Amino acid sequence: MTYSNYDKVFKQLSMKPLKLAKYKKHNSPKPRTCGINRIRCRRCGRARAHISKYGLHFCRQCFREVATHIGFKKYS
Ligand SMILES: [Zn+2]
Repeated sequence: MTYSNYDKVFKQLSMKPLKLAKYKKHNSPKPRTCGINRIRCRRCGRARAHISKYGLHFCRQCFREVATHIGFKKYS
């Protein structure tokens, strides 16, 4: 189970409310207070390769996609 697809099963289990409650109880992501997994990309939710410089809070892949839109220029 990854971070992004935790709530995908909600639609599937909507007809079975007890199963849904049990799923939420045992499979919900743990609320983090510290650690590397707390700092996530604000665009896609990825935990690794995080750029927090200049208050960006993007992962490197998302930064590469949106860099020109937010005013960064590639010199090389
Ligand atoms: Zn991202």
